[in-house]
Amino acid sequence: MAHKKMCSIACCCCSVQDNMKLLKKIVLEPKFICAECGHAVSKKEYLCHPKKL
Ligand SMILES: [Zn+2]
Repeated sequence: MAHKKMCSIACCCCSVQDNMKLLKKIVLEPKFICAECGHAVSKKEYLCHPKKL
């Protein structure tokens, strides 16, 4: 299965808890930001509209 989008993970509090470890890892060194919802992560695969930081 493809990467889950950070955007969809982080918009629901129950999936945030399920994915806390992954979230911590990918937000530690943000390199991309989502132009749509403003989330910042290390890999653009996790964003719906990634933009380089
Ligand atoms: Zn997004």
